[in-house]
Amino acid sequence: MQKTEETLSVLRQNPAKTVTVIGAGVAGMSAACALAEAGLRVQLVERRGYLGGRASSYLHPGVHEIIDNCQHVLFGCCTNLIGFYRRIGVADRIHWTSEMTMIEPGGRRSALGPSWLPAPLHGLPKLMTAHAFTPGDKLALGRAFGALMRPVAADSSESLGAWLSRNGQTEGAINRFWRLVIASALNAEIDQIALPYAAKVIRELFMNSAEAGSMGMSTVPLSDLYAGVIPFLEERGGRVHLNTHVEGAGWDERRAQWTVRTRTGELTSEYVIAALPFEAMQGLLPHLPAAEGAEKLAQQIAQHEHWPICSVHLWFDREITELEHAVLLDREIHWMYNQSRLQTGRGGHYIELVVSATRAFAALKREEAIALALGELTEFFPRVKEAKLEKVALVKEVRATFGVPPGIDASRPSAVSPWPSLFLAGDWVATGWPSTMESGARSGHLAADAICQSVREPRAILVPDLKPRGLMRWLGAGNRE
Ligand SMILES: Cc1cc2nc3c(=O)[nH]c(=O)nc-3n(C[C@H](O)[C@H](O)[C@H](O)COP(=O)(O)OP(=O)(O)OC[C@H]3O[C@@H](n4cnc5c(N)ncnc54)[C@H](O)[C@@H]3O)c2cc1C
Repeated sequence: MQKTEETLSVLRQNPAKTVTVIGAGVAGMSAACALAEAGLRVQLVERRGYLGGRASSYLHPGVHEIIDNCQHVLFGCCTNLIGFYRRIGVADRIHWTSEMTMIEPGGRRSALGPSWLPAPLHGLPKLMTAHAFTPGDKLALGRAFGALMRPVAADSSESLGAWLSRNGQTEGAINRFWRLVIASALNAEIDQIALPYAAKVIRELFMNSAEAGSMGMSTVPLSDLYAGVIPFLEERGGRVHLNTHVEGAGWDERRAQWTVRTRTGELTSEYVIAALPFEAMQGLLPHLPAAEGAEKLAQQIAQHEHWPICSVHLWFDREITELEHAVLLDREIHWMYNQSRLQTGRGGHYIELVVSATRAFAALKREEAIALALGELTEFFPRVKEAKLEKVALVKEVRATFGVPPGIDASRPSAVSPWPSLFLAGDWVATGWPSTMESGARSGHLAADAICQSVREPRAILVPDLKPRGLMRWLGAGNRE
């Protein structure tokens, strides 16, 4: 790829500015690529042998197939993640859809999705005809959506669960919409979700515009999406160090330089971005120089908690459904993804089931989890009874996401760290987004913006939010007060 004139001019002005980015998840990759494009020399360091972190694919030894560690879904409102995909030239590998099929045990289907009506009314016609909800559920949902049009105070200490009880939600609305769609997007139980985060998801996915709520899924295994990251960085003078575990770092005040210590050697640079999950950042803290504010950061990290996500990957001898994906109601398993239809050239009959927002499923033994998933799948897709199961893999990601309980914002630090020229990234830092790839990409772009500011090359790397459409342009000033 050609370096742009702009990039070359920055390189000429800052010939020696090097950045070490620790961690090659979405946060680290987004920061690294944005900074390389801005003309800095980037060293991206990853302890594993592949890129992607918690959103990656690998060859599963049990089934001899490349699988994603779990289906990762994005939405039209994920402007920074899409910006990262555009930067590395893979945005066209995302398959977009606006319709969400909900299936009841027994097989009855309802569809949610946009219509010709202007936002925020665009989803109303399909919601009104959905069999999955009683008239009482629909009325309750309509009332709740109306109430959430008003901005929610960012420091609200109310949980989603408490707010739902206060706003007269029916059992059907709670179980089939709030628990399944919203709590599973935030991967926590409703009492463990801060209201402003739930309100944000509702507004982005269901109110702001049909585009913001459209759902994207990769048509290739996740790590293939990032295959271009290494050449992208190398063509701009950067380097990727895989299988390189960072153990600590020291700051030389006189030279204004960091030395990052890895198990295989040392790397020096003017800047560092620690793009790590919160527990890895916690592990690194004792191996960084003493600094005012480090203790507060340790206390903030200690407030974070993990939530698991499990996925069951099944290969059948025949197709069990023509649907690409569906929400499965009233059972332990929540989402079905027909990977043979979603991924280009995948072949076979590969179905992935996802169970989020529950610790009980993650605690099941392998055989129990698979038997439960298969039994439930049969209730939704009777063709499973005739199909032969050829192979199966169970993936339990115990540290999938961090929770967003009331008060969590006080424990999400900004990109600016207690150390000079060291910036924080990772989905858990202060982005206003829950634990998602978008939060990772945003955090990476925020850290990259901070470094560009520091080398006196300010630029707007953070991609702005989509503008609300239709009536939403005038209704409600924003998600949070
Ligand atoms: C099962 C599952 C399902 C999910 N589903 C979705 C979804 O549908 N949609 C969505 O948007 N998000 C989803 N997420 C969340 C999403 O994957 C994360 O929010 C996002 O990938 C976090 O990116 P990150 O770069 O902040 O962190 P990470 O991906 O954790 O990246 C950090 C990187 O740092 C590396 N590292 C750690 N310690 C060191 C060290 N000492 N030295 C060097 N490298 C180190 C790690 O190996 C890792 O590669 C899901 C997550 C999981 C696990």
